[in-house]
Amino acid sequence: MDPALKICTGCGAPLQTEHPERPGYTVASALEREHPVCRRCFRIKHYNEVAPVAIHDDEFIRIVSEISTKRALVVKVVDLFDFSGSWIDNLRRYIGNNPVLLVANKVDVLPKQTNLDKVEQWLRKEVEKKGVLPEGIALVSASKGHRVEQVKTFIERYANERDVYVIGTANVGKSTLINRLIQMFGETGNVELTTSRYPGTTLSTVQLAIPNYKHMIVDTPGILTTHRLSDLVCPNCLKQIVPDRAINPRVYQLNSGQTLFVGGLARFDFVSGERQPFVCYFANQLGIHRTKLENADALYERHIGGLLTPPCADCGDHLRDLATHKLKIKQGPNVDIVISGLGWISVRGHACEVHLRVPSGVDVSVRRAII
Ligand code: GDP
Repeated sequence: MDPALKICTGCGAPLQTEHPERPGYTVASALEREHPVCRRCFRIKHYNEVAPVAIHDDEFIRIVSEISTKRALVVKVVDLFDFSGSWIDNLRRYIGNNPVLLVANKVDVLPKQTNLDKVEQWLRKEVEKKGVLPEGIALVSASKGHRVEQVKTFIERYANERDVYVIGTANVGKSTLINRLIQMFGETGNVELTTSRYPGTTLSTVQLAIPNYKHMIVDTPGILTTHRLSDLVCPNCLKQIVPDRAINPRVYQLNSGQTLFVGGLARFDFVSGERQPFVCYFANQLGIHRTKLENADALYERHIGGLLTPPCADCGDHLRDLATHKLKIKQGPNVDIVISGLGWISVRGHACEVHLRVPSGVDVSVRRAII
């Protein structure tokens, strides 16, 4: 190890000043202290507050697999705006047979008229297809504090003597949720936050000891992904694509031979089918441009990074390397064509062929319509 490398005296992570979302992040001035700590440990110590930290696959698997050896209640947090992108594949392999509560966060970004009972039924089917039968599902907004009470009630009902492990991919709102829970459980006394190291790793977990409860709440690092558009854009463009309030669906009546550009990040060509509506669910601040398919190549070349933004110059050229997904949608129930980390376009029951271009590596999927 580099002798100049300093270690966080709280959790043991090597300190660094470049990546706020990675373990050991701190401001440069803190490195001069005699007992330096990372931002995460600093916040725990001084504010009783959990800060997000995220790690790559191998490390994540090693840490989270520990759960399968424990008597645990697993709180799996997903992002409702990007359910499949925020799901962790092979979850059972990491958590064993432990019971699961599913917390679907960011309910505040769904359109106002959304039937949440229907969304819950849809979620239940989706997770069952993935081999998980949750004890309970809570649709919450951690940042607004909506329905978080239900998570507390579920924990009280199902934890018994199990410790509660909160897991999720990076940016699903896990830390925001845990901090809400700290406030709620804290009403009955002081919550004590401690860190303890996972065997075989430098990174520690954060454990919350709750007075009058037999169990701890354990925060785990989030897994970093690379298949969501939100993982790939620069911080400024991220603000353009992440919804910060309820999405207003935008409806486009298209003839075949027309194209929609979603910023410059997705190109949706309606190749064949009868004239029909396509309903777009993207952040309200993200521009959508309609053009003729025959003009689309030229428009892209001329306006990418300008009229068609994001991406911007800071995002890098990787977002201009587009992969084409050719999709044939049959007549039948409404479906959503989902672009991970960006949003979705809903097809309202009519047959059509569409070609969707998104940056290489970004997941595209088709699902039963959520709304
Ligand atoms: P973590 O990486 O899973 O711990 O996620 P964070 O708690 O750091 O949250 C990631 C981002 O999502 C932050 O910008 C939060 O402000 C935002 N966020 C968290 N909860 C919600 C929510 O309920 N609704 C919305 N719209 N945003 C949220």
